[in-house]
Amino acid sequence: MLGQMMQQPLLVSSLLIHAERHHGSQEIVSRRVEGDIHRYTYRDLAARSRRMAKTLVARNMGPSARVATLAWNGYRHLELYYAVSGSGSVLHTLNPRLHPDQVVWIADDAEDQILFFDMTFLPLIEAIAGRVKTIKAFVAMTDRAHMPATSKVANLLCYEDLIDASDDQYDWPSFDENSAASLCYTSGTTGNPKGALYSHRSTLLHTYAAALPDALNCSARDAILPVVPMFHVNAWGLPYIACMVGAKMVFPGPGLDGKSLYEMFESEGVTISAGVPTVWQGLLGHVEANKLRFSSMRRTVIGGSACPPAMLQTFQDRYGVQVLHAWGMTEMSPLGTVCSLKHKHEAMSAEERLKVQFKQGRVVYGVDMKIVDAEGKELPFDGKSSGELMVRGSAIISSYFKSAGGNPLVDGWFPTGDVALIDEDGYMQITDRSKDVIKSGGEWIGSIDLENIAMAHPAVSIAACIAAHHPKWDERPLLVVVRKPGAELTREQMLAFYEGKIAKWWTPDDVVFVDAIPLGATGKMQKNKLRDAYKDYKLPTA
Ligand code: AMP
Repeated sequence: MLGQMMQQPLLVSSLLIHAERHHGSQEIVSRRVEGDIHRYTYRDLAARSRRMAKTLVARNMGPSARVATLAWNGYRHLELYYAVSGSGSVLHTLNPRLHPDQVVWIADDAEDQILFFDMTFLPLIEAIAGRVKTIKAFVAMTDRAHMPATSKVANLLCYEDLIDASDDQYDWPSFDENSAASLCYTSGTTGNPKGALYSHRSTLLHTYAAALPDALNCSARDAILPVVPMFHVNAWGLPYIACMVGAKMVFPGPGLDGKSLYEMFESEGVTISAGVPTVWQGLLGHVEANKLRFSSMRRTVIGGSACPPAMLQTFQDRYGVQVLHAWGMTEMSPLGTVCSLKHKHEAMSAEERLKVQFKQGRVVYGVDMKIVDAEGKELPFDGKSSGELMVRGSAIISSYFKSAGGNPLVDGWFPTGDVALIDEDGYMQITDRSKDVIKSGGEWIGSIDLENIAMAHPAVSIAACIAAHHPKWDERPLLVVVRKPGAELTREQMLAFYEGKIAKWWTPDDVVFVDAIPLGATGKMQKNKLRDAYKDYKLPTA
């Protein structure tokens, strides 16, 4: 017997329809690339998103067409979130911090049709425009007055011109909720980046779960400022959550330094924010140096890499801002766990509670997790057994875009590449990472790329690149090199060899020369041994 309920597909557009009808006057505030502060409401967002959707449809961006963005967090980017996915196309958020070669590779792989960009990234657009294979038009996300007088980019359009030439008489289409809504690439451990293709259904289910009190705890009483970029896994879902709960939205634009962020927090009464540890260092540094206080901030979500315990304590003890330590992955939409306490923790001492808070936390509804040993056997939730963390759920990929890399699942579970333990109460703690990528300030640096370049140097026999601890960036690349017999090579020559081959910030912070690199049974470099050996290595930049 079937239930007798209405069939309403879970579509991204439903979030905007809800926000417009029930929170129409709620504010959205953005620091613009143009330098000023822009304000409007959900009602305006909805009307302009419909205009943009109509424009996209008129330009033949039909179902499944990939529409790319290279943009900061701001209202125009938010309009594209809804206009693109809502009209049935697929929003592809490109990461502007990547090297132009990688941006070209990813845009080609995604077969992007049109690319919207913030003016900050015009030089990057000029570098890639003649090289990308499928992009037919580039849209500068600005008004006519701020368009460049001349540009090398053919087919350059102006965002506000497109909005002005359209109207908002547009009905969001209804379609299968399993249709693709957005696409985000992750730098896998080996080979080329791979795309995670989210569906409307997975996005909505993730949004419901992420908004819950024990997850990100968002409501219409909040003003949310996502510091995490909208090109990092959809800003951890906050642009969708804000519409679902009717929260005020505050966008920092390109102003991610401590001073600019603090000003936005205070002037807009921000109650909750989210970002990687690195950005909070900048903010805390500014607040501490100027003896400031947070007058409205109640919570901040810290994730993307491990939150240093000292940071958690500073936020909570000195500033009264609750820290929610969170863990997730691009492949998981991204939220996996959030560290919020249980009723039993109320009775504990502050010290004991802190120990719990340092962990990565409990799963949000919709995610299941387990840890397994080297043979794949499940290990107990005892807080002692450590194994590879496996996850499954309706907002976790079943395969990568275009099936890149084959079937990633093992018995229906997604192997995260993280090594963790889980305690009796279900709190997970990452103890290590089995994958070798380096995570600097929340951004991936592919160790394999760095090794390949080093090994292309005529004086290098073998090279391994590992993550070394850095107080600001969490991890930075350290290159371990074995020279060819009789060859001469200095640290400076090795580092100079990277110039022009990668984004500058990918360049290793230091080089150490060794006689041999430990190899495993299959001839693979045993980077875990190197990581152990250089655990306490002090980088010159630290
Ligand atoms: P990404 O796909 O870029 O979001 O990276 C996902 C990876 O970042 C995870 O598999 C972890 O290795 C790491 N990560 C994310 N959050 C945390 C955290 N809170 N603590 C430690 N590692 C984390």
